[in-house]
Amino acid sequence: MLDLHNRSVTYLPGVGPKKAEILRQEAGISSYEDLLFYFPYKYVDRSRFYKVVEIRGTMPYIQLKGRILSFEIVGEGRTKRLIGRFTDGTGIIDLVWFKGIAYVKDKYVIGKDYIVFGKPTEFGNNYNIAHPEIDPVENADQVAGGLTPFYNTTEKMKKSFLNSKAIQNLQYTLLNWLNWQVPETLSPDVLACTHMVSLTEAIRNIHFPESAEKLKQAQVRLKFDELFYIQLNILRTATARKLKLKGIVFPQVGDYFNDFYKNHLPFELTNAQKRVVREIRADMGSGRQMNRLVQGDVGSGKTLVGLLAMLLAVDNHCQACMMAPTEILANQHYATVMEFLKGMDVKVALLTGSTKKKERNKILPEIASGEIQIVIGTHALIEESVVFSSLGLAIIDEQHRFGVEQRSRLWTKNRQIPHVLVMTATPIPRTLAMTLYGDLDVSVIDELPPGRKPIQTLHRYDNKKAQLHEFLRKEIERGRQVYIVYPLIEGSEKLDYKNLEEGFELFKEIFPEYTVCMVHGKMKAADKEAEMQKFISGEAKILMATTVIEVGVNVPNASVMVIESAERFGLSQLHQLRGRVGRGAEQSYCILVSSYKLSNETRKRLEIMVNSNNGFEIAEADLRLRGHGDLEGTQQSGMGIDLKIANLASDGQILQLARDIAQQILY
Ligand code: ADP
Ligand code: MG
Repeated sequence: MLDLHNRSVTYLPGVGPKKAEILRQEAGISSYEDLLFYFPYKYVDRSRFYKVVEIRGTMPYIQLKGRILSFEIVGEGRTKRLIGRFTDGTGIIDLVWFKGIAYVKDKYVIGKDYIVFGKPTEFGNNYNIAHPEIDPVENADQVAGGLTPFYNTTEKMKKSFLNSKAIQNLQYTLLNWLNWQVPETLSPDVLACTHMVSLTEAIRNIHFPESAEKLKQAQVRLKFDELFYIQLNILRTATARKLKLKGIVFPQVGDYFNDFYKNHLPFELTNAQKRVVREIRADMGSGRQMNRLVQGDVGSGKTLVGLLAMLLAVDNHCQACMMAPTEILANQHYATVMEFLKGMDVKVALLTGSTKKKERNKILPEIASGEIQIVIGTHALIEESVVFSSLGLAIIDEQHRFGVEQRSRLWTKNRQIPHVLVMTATPIPRTLAMTLYGDLDVSVIDELPPGRKPIQTLHRYDNKKAQLHEFLRKEIERGRQVYIVYPLIEGSEKLDYKNLEEGFELFKEIFPEYTVCMVHGKMKAADKEAEMQKFISGEAKILMATTVIEVGVNVPNASVMVIESAERFGLSQLHQLRGRVGRGAEQSYCILVSSYKLSNETRKRLEIMVNSNNGFEIAEADLRLRGHGDLEGTQQSGMGIDLKIANLASDGQILQLARDIAQQILY
């Protein structure tokens, strides 16, 4: 059998060096294999012939059978075109060409029977078909056999006569040469237990579908292949790493954990939290290095799970650290942890960029000696001057802010690689997580603590501001606090800051009786902290901010969130922001303010927000609307996923199957 992988497409008739180069550059097709795996992006049903009299308003592609009556060139310069009058006996329709006039006129014979295929457009009282595909009726078997594939082509390809039809012809020629046989790549066992069609059958039907059902089977097989090899790779790397990386063993649950759990924990853990803590304990006791991603919607109680894991490390005579993406968050985690651990004898330190030199000089040796058991901080933790005595666990909060590289720098903090726990509120859909973070084990906290009232989300247009202000005033009179968030988007920062500052002035005017405060990324850390503190203490009733508050801030009394220019935010981001409210016992509100003029997609996005409070549902919807390439958190994953045929949003079942089979094979 031919070596499909190494045989160049230049062996195909009609593909000279120039066309071969264009195929390579524009479509990535160099070898026979590349060509066979260049799949159509859609299919048009060509099983039916239409009559000219049947043509109506907006029809998709149709085919007709008949004769050309005459050719005529009309217009001049740019409007110059060739018109072929075409009839099937029921009426007349114009076929129109703007390019290749001489070639067309020469190629098609007046009075001969042809099959014409194209999309009719209405033109005055008549219809015409521009640049139709024309085949002699003798070729009907080849072209009009039902589902016709369409291949992606670029302008450059079309200019070199490499249109969709030409690609199809190349596929036909190649498959003929191959006797319509392609070497199988899956073992008989896998084929049998997955009930997949053979690769030959799949390739044949993806290019020349015998029926809609056979096409479907072909697609399933080819999607499976694509996902299967990705999973094999991911799992193999993960296994290799697991075998190589011995983890510090934490054999015992000791006094710290038990004392905290029994005497200091102010509430019962949710079942989801209990499950995740069990998973973490199993990892830490296994002798392998833990590398676990904990996903949980905002407010699901990840911090507490992290704290319990840190206490386990301390119980086993190791240190633990927790790294947050911003100072505000690190401060808050520190405050939270100190509050939880009140009355317990655990030594905790905070280390951020604004830790004073004197304080640093005191802390660093204590970290190095092991006296400090838990360190909470920002990027400052990965600076070289920070040396641990025995770091057993590193927790990274809000993963999407940290690159993979930073994650690995934490590892070098110790002779032995510490256990790593990554916590994220960005609910990456399961299918995507399996592909992106295949090397991480994933835990999901899919339950919120009891007693939370669902946040009510409303969409309001920005020409109804007076009503909005009235609503805010009522809520503040009831003792609530309000967040007002402005977008801050790369490329329009200047205008965005201006909007925020103008908004700030306006709100001070509208609410003279209350303190209004403001934070944004350009402020000095100390000022930011001071403003934030005003809000946390309850002195300020209204906090105006850019998206700096996006992550983690916890003020239970703030129950109203207004998001200005909501149309400019992505769904996941909106959901993150919304998670800042709904933390107390009061009914909370999220008000999405947008302009009236919205694209359909944006309108859908805002609708999803109004209708759903479920982060996973929202992330799935986001994935469907935007495609996975755009999803927050996927860029820095360090693993480009370039899928030809499978779709992570809709092929979850096939992905699961691919993963199961890959697992069976490897273990
Ligand atoms: P996340 O980081 O997942 O967004 P947090 O850890 O900040 O959520 O928790 C949100 C709030 O819920 C905190 O005030 C926390 O103390 C509280 N909380 C966490 N777990 C529970 C629980 N099991 N029951 C009641 N409240 C909880
Ligand atoms: Mg958090």
